[in-house]
Amino acid sequence: MKSDLQAIAGVLQRSRKVIVSGHIMPDGDCVGSVAALGLALARLGKEATMALPDPVPELFRFLPGTADFLTGETALGGDYDTFMVLDCSVPERLGALRPLLERRLTVCNIDHHVSSHSFAHYNYIDPRAAATAEIVQDLCALLGVEITPGIAACLYTGIVTDTGSFQYENTTPETHRRAAALIERGAPVHEINIQLYEQKPLAHLRVLEAVLPTLSLTPCGRVAWMSVTRRLLESLEARDEHVNGLINYARSVRGVEVALLFREISPGRYKISFRSKEAVDVNRLAARFGGGGHVRAAGCVLEGELPSLQTQVVAAALEAIRVSGA
Ligand code: 5GP
Ligand code: MN
Repeated sequence: MKSDLQAIAGVLQRSRKVIVSGHIMPDGDCVGSVAALGLALARLGKEATMALPDPVPELFRFLPGTADFLTGETALGGDYDTFMVLDCSVPERLGALRPLLERRLTVCNIDHHVSSHSFAHYNYIDPRAAATAEIVQDLCALLGVEITPGIAACLYTGIVTDTGSFQYENTTPETHRRAAALIERGAPVHEINIQLYEQKPLAHLRVLEAVLPTLSLTPCGRVAWMSVTRRLLESLEARDEHVNGLINYARSVRGVEVALLFREISPGRYKISFRSKEAVDVNRLAARFGGGGHVRAAGCVLEGELPSLQTQVVAAALEAIRVSGA
């Protein structure tokens, strides 16, 4: 069922105990949106629990509220009347929190993925929003919650990360107006920039150093891919979050239209990230493999041997480029 945001604001006004959550392998928009809505609900006097299926990556732990996040199944022990799901396009991406969908709770889903499914009682999906944080910003206004500097920092982080620092094509004049409003409310832009981009753990660069030699290009130069195995991460004592962002190096090569990153998540199981530059709809490309996301950034999970998965996905990417006419 499609709902308007006002209806979701109404649900929240009537609620008492709310659990706010997002997707597995959380990104800045997911963490920022969950923290912002959790803090906003607390200001309304609600009992708000913030939870994610996976731990908050170290990168985002500077955000207010994140120290209180529950991780994985620990959140299942609580008693709630409302379940807010943010930035999560399909129920599978709720991971360990998915059983909450089976409970007698009012479930609201707020998202901006084109591939999003209406799996909740109330679904507000706006693919024109650059980030889920933009929708949470509107929800705060509907709830009459004052945007504190802390809430502003969370929402700004969601927008800045999902727009690639206002560089991707989802960035509009409206995105900048929203960011301006958050800066007026006290979002510490310079500090957020330092936290996100100038404080990388050394492990992140060590992973980059080890992954760059795996960069391969098709003979036509339009598709580039890289791979990360568990063994490599273990040998560097690095975590999954240290892999985030590396795919941008593959996309940044002149002539490349589609970039792929094959990340081993468990033996024989690979998370594949897709990025495109100008023409290819990678949401559709990832959907061919059971995944989804956005037009320029998407993902899926596949099982098999790495070389054969690479052959299949690279061939599909070449085909998508051909069909797009790019
Ligand atoms: P990333 O490559 O940064 O993990 O994900 C890029 C985008 O694709 C994100 O918006 C994310 O929500 C989506 N995405 C990543 N992996 C999957 C997946 O396995 N299934 C679906 N449906 N979407 C995914
Ligand atoms: Mn998002």
